[in-house]
Order: sequence, then structure tokens, then C-alpha cells
Amino acid sequence: MIVGRMPVLGAFLDDNLWFRNARSVFPSVTRVCTTSVATGAWPGRHGIVNNQFHLGGDLGGPLVDTARIDRLLELKDRAGAIVTADSLGQRLAADGRSMMAIHCGSAGSGLLVNHAVHELGHRTFSVHGADATLTPEIVPDILATCGPLPGDEAPKLDTVAYTGRVATEVALAQDQSDVTLVWLPEPDTSFHFCGIHSDGAEQAMRAADAVFAEILQSIADGPHADTTAIIAMSDHGQIATSALIDLAGLLRADGFRAGHEPDDNTDILLTGGNMGELRPMTPDPRLIADLGRWLMLRDEIGMVFADPARVDGALAPEAVHQTHPRSADLLYVMRSDETAGPGGIPGIGVFTGGVPLGGGMHGGLNRYEMNTVLGFSVPDGRCAADDMPASLIDIAPTVLDLLGANFDSDGRVLPLFEAEQEPALVEIHEAGSGDFRQRLVRSGIGGRSYLIEGGRV
Ligand SMILES: [Zn+2]
Repeated sequence: MIVGRMPVLGAFLDDNLWFRNARSVFPSVTRVCTTSVATGAWPGRHGIVNNQFHLGGDLGGPLVDTARIDRLLELKDRAGAIVTADSLGQRLAADGRSMMAIHCGSAGSGLLVNHAVHELGHRTFSVHGADATLTPEIVPDILATCGPLPGDEAPKLDTVAYTGRVATEVALAQDQSDVTLVWLPEPDTSFHFCGIHSDGAEQAMRAADAVFAEILQSIADGPHADTTAIIAMSDHGQIATSALIDLAGLLRADGFRAGHEPDDNTDILLTGGNMGELRPMTPDPRLIADLGRWLMLRDEIGMVFADPARVDGALAPEAVHQTHPRSADLLYVMRSDETAGPGGIPGIGVFTGGVPLGGGMHGGLNRYEMNTVLGFSVPDGRCAADDMPASLIDIAPTVLDLLGANFDSDGRVLPLFEAEQEPALVEIHEAGSGDFRQRLVRSGIGGRSYLIEGGRV
């Protein structure tokens, strides 16, 4: 996807250290990924277990939609905390270091990138304005420097360009923080709503590449060029949607009282997309077993995660690091494969909604959803294409290590200066029942298990 479309990023990866097997976390959705970047933790420890999730049992109530700041602040009231792992921002602040984030995703994602930003004295700017950030006091100065906020239609070319201005004219120009994070909304938005193989997506990729070039130039021209590490990353990939099903409707047709919000007609709360949870409103092991069996009988379902002692043929949620008290007892992934989609781009799958049919989607464990961009340019660092496993959870400990700080995280400090000698071990988990068979591939190194890919076989 990069070759021919993002020449500056392509050259950056070729000329520096490129982790070719870098992967996302599960589910491969943005707020889960953002929080894993921010904490160096799997969702089983940081607690943002999906973009949208319900709280079970006594904590029941409305859907936790992590795109919304108000719903995240409610989560703090309902469950005691939003994020349950220490963050990069918190660790930096403990050493008296600063962080600025320029964020163009949802307001919720802008919160999760440095959730304690306000008490730490750090800065987060959301391109959605003062109401969408925990540090609204910095917004007027940025508007004065960079002009009025851009519109919000896909492809978000204006938003991307505006982000470049904030990065180069504010974050890297004045009062530079120890860590600057720039989060572009593209090409994610255009992949979703215009299609992965679309003119809009191509325009968005070129616009993102142009901003990356501006950032590289700004650093090269600035006073800290010799001591600045630059990391280029994406948080997930995408596959094209090839068929749409109404999972809640199918469940109801078969007698399960399933719905997206708690009400008098609902016993089972679900979320959707390329994957989701099925959560009985009151814990019910027999209902979980019935639902697990029902999922495995459907052609559109790719994977089922639940306690295998309860649901024959399921893989344990532990296998994908979904071990948080907030994690649902039953998770499903829609069926996908590596068939070429529109434009010959590999990766298509069934989904339950959220974008137009034919648009791009992510969330599951397809290789093309899980594969991410991860490249490092580090002073005196090595230049290579590295095949070792790497993931979003490694970014925070690696950044902190570059700053001379330890960080107790789930990830490892990536080998920026010398290649690792220890081999990575392939771990294959297979399970199934009847005609349903699923496989999860992980890669182990240093006592950690990175998620590589998974699906129905
Ligand atoms: Zn997305």
C-alpha cells in the first residue's frame, strides 16, 4: 500500500529500521490500539477492551462508546477508572518530562492517548476543538497560529494539512516537548468510507505523506535534529467489506433476546463491526454455551473466544490478551480471508455494519487488519528490515528507554541498536467443533506472545 502511494514514508522505512512483522492488538480497533500505544499494555491490562463495550453485572448501563469523552468520564464514575494501566505520559511526567499530542481521531481517542494529560501538565490538541480535549486552554493559541479548524468530510485532506501546520508551527517550533505525538486520521477514514481502493484513499495517502515530509523537514531544520528519534507507525490495517449481516436480527430470529442497548426486550448485549462481544446482562454460563454453539454453526463467523470448558471449540480469551474484568465472556470475529478485494488489494470479510458495504473495516485478526507500519529513525540506531515480532505495546517502553527510563509494561524495548539473537517461536492455537475450525498464530519472544493472525480454517 505504501509503495507508489507514500514515497516519503517508503523511503523512510527503507532507509531506517523497519519492523516488517509489526502487528496490532485485539481487537484491532483504534481506541484499543491507542490505549495500547499509550500504556504499553494489552487490553487485558489497560481496560479499553473494545471501541464500544458494555459493563457486565452490577455495573450495567449504557454502552461505553469510547469515541465520546462524556462516556469515558462516565466510565470513571461507573468503574473507578478509564484506563487501568500506567501511561507513557504518566511515566514521562514522573521524570519531569513533557508530552504534546496533536490528535485528529475521535475526541475519545484524543483522551486515551494521554488520559491524565491535565494533571500531568502536558498538552493535547484535538482537531475537533476545545470541547474535544482535556486541555482546552491550549486551543486558542493554536487557532491564532494555524487558522480556523478544518471541516470533517472524507477524504480529510484539510484535516491532514492542518495537523501538519500544528505539528510544524507549534509542536516542533515553540517550546518543544520531550515527546511529540502526531495522530493523522488518514488514510483510515477514507479507507472506511471511500474504499481502500479509491481515489479518495489515494489522495488521503498522498496528503499524509506530504505532512510526514513536512515533519521530517521541520525536525531536520530544527535545533534537536541530532538527538531526535522519529517513529512512523499505524495502529492497524484494513480489509474490504464483502458482505453485510444483521447479527442482532439473526440472533433474535433464533429466539435470543439480543440488542445493542439495555432495555426490557434484551437479555444479551452485543457490539459489532468486524468483531464484537455477546454479553448476557446477567451472567449465565448456559446462555454463553448456547450462544457459542450458535455462532459456530454460522458460515459468517470466523472465530469464537470463550472459556473452552464452557464453549466447546472456542479459544480462550487469554490467547488474545482479553483478560480484563471488563472483557466479555464471549467474543466473536467475523469471517474473512486473504482473497483479493477491489483493486486487487488482498483481504475481504463479512461485517455487521458501521461503514458502507465495500468500504474498509478492521477489528479482527486477519493478517491485513493486524499488520501495521512500524519504523524507527534513531540517532546512531541501526538500519535494517527486521522480521522479529513487534507490536503497539512495544512503543512506549522503547520511547522511554531512549529517554533513559524504565517502564513496567507488557511490551519489550525494541532492538534499535543491535539485532536480537534470541529466535522468535511460532505458537499455533487451533480449536473447533463440528465443521467449525479456527486457528490463531502468535509469535513468542522474551516471554511475550505477539498476535500475528487468526481466522477460520
Ligand atoms: Zn478505522
